[in-house]
Formats: sequence, structure tokens, C-alpha cells
Amino acid sequence: MTKVDGTVEQAQALDREDELAAFRERFYLLQNGIYMDGNSLGLCSRDAEQAVLNALQEWKTLGIDGWTEASPPWFYLAEELGKREAALVGGKPEEVIVAGSTTVNLHQLVSTFFHPQGTRTKILTDELNFPSDQYALQSQLLLKGLDPAEHLVLVKSRDGRVVEEEDIIAAMTDEIALIMLPAVLYRSGQLLDMERLTTEAHARGIVIGFDCCHSIGAVPHHFSQWGTDFAFWCNYKYLNAGPGSVGGLYVNERHFGTRPGLSGWFGYRKDRQFDMVHEFEPADSAGAWQIGTTHLLSTAPLLGSLKIFEEAGIDRIRAKSLRQTEYMMQLIDRLPVELGYSIGNPRDDARRGGHVSLEHAEAVRICKALKARHIIPDFRFPNVIRLAPIALYNTYEEIWRTVEALREIIENREYEAFATERGVVA
Ligand SMILES: *Cc1c(COP(=O)(O)O)cnc(C)c1O
Repeated sequence: MTKVDGTVEQAQALDREDELAAFRERFYLLQNGIYMDGNSLGLCSRDAEQAVLNALQEWKTLGIDGWTEASPPWFYLAEELGKREAALVGGKPEEVIVAGSTTVNLHQLVSTFFHPQGTRTKILTDELNFPSDQYALQSQLLLKGLDPAEHLVLVKSRDGRVVEEEDIIAAMTDEIALIMLPAVLYRSGQLLDMERLTTEAHARGIVIGFDCCHSIGAVPHHFSQWGTDFAFWCNYKYLNAGPGSVGGLYVNERHFGTRPGLSGWFGYRKDRQFDMVHEFEPADSAGAWQIGTTHLLSTAPLLGSLKIFEEAGIDRIRAKSLRQTEYMMQLIDRLPVELGYSIGNPRDDARRGGHVSLEHAEAVRICKALKARHIIPDFRFPNVIRLAPIALYNTYEEIWRTVEALREIIENREYEAFATERGVVA
């Protein structure tokens, strides 16, 4: 990108040149506010809203017949949306299903693919991984009678921010049965080289999967091409499907026919599900990893929000996201060093996801001061301010205003008016 000069005019010029600018109108933006938290909870679009209203209308008018007569029929909704999400993860249409939630899908997939045998009894992850993922992996080991203290191997971070791929590869010993890693680390925004890690894991006979909560909708993936075994994600962050909306998962087709760890009737072969037989026969697709009845009202928003992704295209979204975060970083670079801000995410395009991880000793109070100015950041204990300019709805001018606010909050000592305790959420 051209050299950032720090003027608001330059921000406005970048907005005028932005080919994705029109998508902003599709979203409910905060009144007089700037939303920089779309990596925690994406904003509501009119498309998502309309999809929920349609679902309610179909429920009102069709009752039980919605399972076959709704558009698309509720019975095939998870498969239909899986097909549409496949483009975002580089999967074949039948390798993706929309169902469950991040943590439930993790349990589902790890219980399917973790088979401790002989000396291969351990699970490999990283020490910076999200707490829910850690708890879930611990309980998967406990269910097999294994002690997490010994059998959950945590790759160390050298600097508390990022995990080096070389260190992960060095930890792929013949004691490891399964590897589960985040695609993008939630705090530092580091993007792991999933292709390289998949290749290295497979060279050692280890099954590997990724948590894509912080990458889906922000970064393209090519799971079929890479041969990755499995992946899972939520749809409420970059995908804007609403708080607690249903998640998604990917299973490579070579595993079709494998019995899911947690079987249920929605994973049964679809053409005969209502034969109601007691012997389980898995669907010949990722659909086999569904458990129970589709959560209709928390799946419906995706029907609308995915339309926006299909129109914009993930490659254009990624290109703009990289330009926006680069722009933000260059503005931050221009702030006087005495203000105390430093950038904690990797700078290299190939190594970062969709947010800037800004560090400051006064992060708690700065976040409160930003909120008082109606700028919504995301605080991560103890010193990280996550800022996510979202390609579909944030402008360059909003980025400029956010960085100006960061400057003034310290220069005018605005943060001193706030208490140092953090809130319950974040
Ligand atoms: C957001 C997020 C989760 C959330 O899990 P849910 O089951 O959807 O509550 C889990 N893992 C990571 C890495 C996340 O970013």
C-alpha cells in the first residue's frame, strides 16, 4: 500500500477507491459508534435478519411441513449451508456441514479421530490455545483414562504471542496420536501455516485438525487440497450469523464411513433416516458428524449472511482485510513511542489473520476510554487491545478515527478517569 501519511483525507481517498465499500450498507451499524469487535461478534446484516424472519414465517405457516416444504427444506438445511460454506474452507461440498458449536464439534471430531494406541497416546496443541479448546482436549483424554498433565502436550511460545511452526513440528513425536491447533491464534492474531503443518503431521502418521473460529470468513483455506483431516468453527465472528449461532465442521472425504465419536440420528444416512432402525449407518458425507435435530432459528441467519460472502468473495475480503490492518498498523507506527503502544501480531501478511493485537500496560483503562467514545474494541487480559477492522463493514476513516482516539486517550490522560478492574465479558 502507498505510504500512509496520517491524514484523514488519505483515509477518505482509500474509502472512495474501495470496491467492497457498498457492503457496509447491508449491515446495522452502531449509532454514532465505531465497531472494531467483529472478530468476537459480527454485526447483524439485513440479509441475516430477513433470513430469520423468513424462517419464523415458515414455522408459522407450515408447521411440521417446514421440514420438507420450507425453502430450503429444514431437513436439508445443514447440508445446503455446508455446501455453501465449503467455498470458505476450500472443501468439497459434501465435506462440510453446518451443525453444533465450536466446542461441541471439537468434542465430536476429537472423539472420532483420537485413538490412543501403544506408545501413541498423546494430543498435541499449543499453550496459547483458547481455554474452551484446552478444557475439551483435557476431558477427551480423561474419558480415555489418560492424565492430561502427561498426555496433553503444549507447544511453548517463545515470546508469549506466537507459536513457531518449527517448534510445533519438532513436537510431532511418535507419541503423538492427534494434533489440534488454532488456524489463527485468538490473542495475537498469528495465522499458522496450515498446509505445512498438515504435510509434516501426515509424514509422521499423525491426524491433524484446526479450530478456524478466527480464520473463517477472514482468511481463505484449502483443506481438500492440503488434505487436512478435520476442522471446525463458529459462525458468529467474521461470518456474522448472530450470537451463539450454529457452528460448522469439515471432514476430509477419506474419512467418510468412519463412525463418528458422538453418533446421533441426524448423522444417519439421510435417505433412510426415517426408517428408524437401531443399527447406525453413517451418512456418506460430513453430515455423518451431525448429532441431533437442526437448530433452525440459530442456523437461519447464515442463509442471509453467506449471501454477502458469496457476492464479495473471500479473496477480495482477505485482500481488503490485509490492506486495512496494514493501514492501521502504519498509523500506529506513526504514534509517538512515549505513548506506550506496541504491535503484538506478526507483521508479515502470510502470518496474520484479521485483527491487530495492540499491547499497552494500561489496556484495561484504554478499552474503557474507547468505549466511552463509542469505539468498541476487545480487551484480552492482561494487556491486549484487539482491533478488528472488518472488510465488509468498516471504513478506512473509522480506522483513522480509532487510532486518533488511541493517541488522545493517552495524551489527554483520559484513561485515568476509569477503574482498572476488567468487566465480566472480556
Ligand atoms: C470463539 C472461540 C470458541 C468459542 O467456542 P463456542 O463453543 O462457540 O462457545 C472456541 N475456540 C476458539 C479458538 C474461539 O475463538
